[in-house]
Amino acid sequence: MNHFVKPKKHLGQHFLKDESIAEKVALLYKDDYKDVPVLEIGPGTGVLTQFLLANYSNVTALEIDSESVVYLKEHFVPKGLKLEEGDILNKNTEYLFGEKDMIVIGNYPYNISSQIVFKVLEHVESVIGFGGMFQKEVAERLVAGKGSKTYGILSVLLNAFYTTSYQFTIEPHVFNPPPKVKSGVIKCVRKEGFVLPCSKTLFFDVVKTGFNQRRKTLRNALHKFNLKDTHEFAKLRAEQLSVEDFISLTSYIENNR
Ligand code: SAH
Repeated sequence: MNHFVKPKKHLGQHFLKDESIAEKVALLYKDDYKDVPVLEIGPGTGVLTQFLLANYSNVTALEIDSESVVYLKEHFVPKGLKLEEGDILNKNTEYLFGEKDMIVIGNYPYNISSQIVFKVLEHVESVIGFGGMFQKEVAERLVAGKGSKTYGILSVLLNAFYTTSYQFTIEPHVFNPPPKVKSGVIKCVRKEGFVLPCSKTLFFDVVKTGFNQRRKTLRNALHKFNLKDTHEFAKLRAEQLSVEDFISLTSYIENNR
């Protein structure tokens, strides 16, 4: 265990103690993308970073906690880590998502996990692989399909662009300090050749608006888009639409405005 960096609750710090789990997460993309640049979000004290450095040729890590940054500088920068100090949600870290294909990986701070997913979706043209650890419930929601209890906004948006899979569950006791909930690891691989046939902004708006009033029929929930009563989805609720249905609905709205 690392005694140099004291875990800070407000930064969602739960340091992974189990190295075999860290290695499994690091290896998620090794076979396919060994030479693709990797961005690790929230390296902390580097338990995952060490295995990323051992398996990929180009690793950058972004960490907000200055105490962790001091530790990483001493122990991992000499081993080839490109280290950046900053906040993933801040505009001035945008440059880390270059034009090139890249992988985003991490044991993410659970308090901002949805925002991290949105950040990746914003940069879907760059991010060919997105994987790592979330709170189990969130991990399940991210990979959920139509008909699942946890199917929602993030499931539709992420699964439009990525083939997602739930990899394995992690018990709380392997972290310091242990979180109150279990964790889950997911792997997302971008669908190559897929082009969204409608406006991305409108697609996000339709999905969010549809689910924000999830008990209403889409005719009512999507009132602002003037969805006609006669549309085949008008009487359905958001959760009854597949990803493909949402895409065709958005195209319809776009062409009938
Ligand atoms: N990957 C490490 C740490 C996981 S805890 C491990 O598995 O042990 C989550 C990490 O994300 C912490 O190091 C925390 O400082 C960092 N973090 C929290 N908010 C962040 C943000 N907004 N931007 C970048 N890193 C952040």
